[in-house]
Amino acid sequence: MAKQEQTQNTTETHAFQAEVQEVLHLMVHSLYSNKEIFLRELISNASDACDKLRFAALSDESLLEGDADFHIDIEVDHNKGELTVRDNGIGMNRDEVMENIGTIARSGTRRFLEQVSGDSDLDRKLIGQFGVGFYSAFIVADEVTVHSRRASDKASQGVRWTSNGQGEYQIEAETRDHHGTEVKLKLKESEQEFLQDWTLRRLVSRYSDHIGFPIRMWQVGKSENQEGADEPEHGKWVAVNQAAALWTLPKTEISDEEYQSFYKHLSHDLEDPMAWTHNHVEGSQNYTNLLYLPSKAPLDLMMQRDERHGLRLYVRRVFIMDAAEQLLPHYLRFVRGVVDSDDLPLNVSREILQENDALRKIRSAVIKRSLDLLARLADNDEAHYQRFWDEFGAVLKEGIVEDLPNREKLARLLRFATTGDDEAEQTVSLADYVNRMADSQDAIWFITAESHRAALNSPHLEIFRKKGIEVLLLSDRIDEWMMGYFTEYDGKPLRSVAKGDFNLDRDTANDEQKNAEDDPQEDNETLKRLAGVLGSEVSEVRPSKRLTESASCLVFGEQDMALHMRRLLEQAGQELPDSRPALEVNVEHPLYKILESADEKEHFEDLGRLLHEQAVLSEGGQLEDPAAFVRRINRLMLEMAPAEPPNAE
Ligand code: ADP
Repeated sequence: MAKQEQTQNTTETHAFQAEVQEVLHLMVHSLYSNKEIFLRELISNASDACDKLRFAALSDESLLEGDADFHIDIEVDHNKGELTVRDNGIGMNRDEVMENIGTIARSGTRRFLEQVSGDSDLDRKLIGQFGVGFYSAFIVADEVTVHSRRASDKASQGVRWTSNGQGEYQIEAETRDHHGTEVKLKLKESEQEFLQDWTLRRLVSRYSDHIGFPIRMWQVGKSENQEGADEPEHGKWVAVNQAAALWTLPKTEISDEEYQSFYKHLSHDLEDPMAWTHNHVEGSQNYTNLLYLPSKAPLDLMMQRDERHGLRLYVRRVFIMDAAEQLLPHYLRFVRGVVDSDDLPLNVSREILQENDALRKIRSAVIKRSLDLLARLADNDEAHYQRFWDEFGAVLKEGIVEDLPNREKLARLLRFATTGDDEAEQTVSLADYVNRMADSQDAIWFITAESHRAALNSPHLEIFRKKGIEVLLLSDRIDEWMMGYFTEYDGKPLRSVAKGDFNLDRDTANDEQKNAEDDPQEDNETLKRLAGVLGSEVSEVRPSKRLTESASCLVFGEQDMALHMRRLLEQAGQELPDSRPALEVNVEHPLYKILESADEKEHFEDLGRLLHEQAVLSEGGQLEDPAAFVRRINRLMLEMAPAEPPNAE
């Protein structure tokens, strides 16, 4: 905390973390047209708090303080222009309030703020990806006050937090009889509509109808001994939502809108989900799963799993924990939703979950459902699947490595850029590729490189272009790693154009013989001489069968790592086994002819080393001695210069 002042009545003033201030500002401005979502966000938080207390009370009933009747109350004070959302959930102590509400403990917040464009439409999407949450209250309120007490704390340990969202907040101790949290909004002059009974009811039924707790509002009634007009003080709390958790209902009774709003409640996402699957499973095990695919990747997707809004585990309707890690492999970390088991014990802990047989079965079913959902989307709705792939494809690729049993299913979901398409977009499936293969082609060819452009311009593609063979162009960071594990699809080997020796003519009649005859000069004196110059930098120097335009290229062994990947790992401090590539030289190339006729030793060395260096560079590698490379280039340039330097006049 940047600033802290102690005042007499023990009210402390703190400055928001700098990032909070920026996020707040952005949120208020870019979400104004969606301002009503604040209510959903506050109700979601209240519902989570009830979930948490119900779970904690399973092992310590005293936490309930005699109140097991969970509910969320919405209250208005027309005179003061105040709207209150109150829950009897777990509550927060002072430290928790400061930590949860004064800071934004999220990875990627800085990066997020750097992307802010000032264009409200774009920023709205951005903030949606970030997650909205509590701060959305400031869209409609001049001042927000949070009263809270943690269940099990003493009445005197309550806490009051107030802020006008302008950079500072005040916090002080207060006595609170009841545990739970109350969020009070002093509505802006322009937002008084949120005091209207019917507005609030409409919002609850639109956004929060199917959360598992009653949301109550005060219904004015007549006093018992009086007839006539309603009196505000005489009335009762009535539930204004269905209060049946959505996933427990039969699928036929749930509309798309209900599925969508429940997703938003779970995920705090502004966008609708892209697709979902909802299954009640009965048999040796009984459980329900409701799984969603988001439309947009959250900001920190690549970095880590967002534990808070992943997959929730319930046991017989009781929330147990956020258990994405137990229920899903890492590569499906974008899936959101609920799993509700009838078979697990209520007092299940994370440790027990790891060993639990029932859970293991649910886990593999959840994986299968997720992959089936993706396969259905890919088959039935190409455009949406493409959007999914653009957002999450790089994550799904991790599955090829991590999830051997499902590798085939995953392989069908992959999409690639290829030489058959000028665009960098990854749109081609392996099935498409295989369909387009000539009968004589016996492998699926690919190249990995640092960027799409580097892949597209690689000398290794020359012979493939000449022969009209399509090549997959892989340039995601994960690709080199993935392809190390991905060796076969549909009975066909996947092969790198940059690795190993191959003969693309093998399948035509008499080719073996033809190639033996064609084999360009196996016993080539010039190349032997060049091998002598390069020494241990290469494993061998040989005439190339794959180059048609470039003069030289590096070729790795089938098991070797590509140079750009090697560099990344070395920079990250990994020790890698030495692997030396072969240098292939295009003996039809004019540069080779010059090399061949260079008899002067220095000249031969310069040219020979340059052939090697340009091969390293076009592979995305780094030169060991860049200065020597520059000297060599300069010597050649000077040779080309006219004998007399041009006169300045
Ligand atoms: P999110 O809900 O996405 O985590 P919020 O900004 O809405 O983000 O809330 C931050 C945290 O504050 C929550 O994760 C929760 O720990 C705490 N919190 C918010 N509202 C409540 C509440 N009504 N009761 C208890 N804790 C709450």
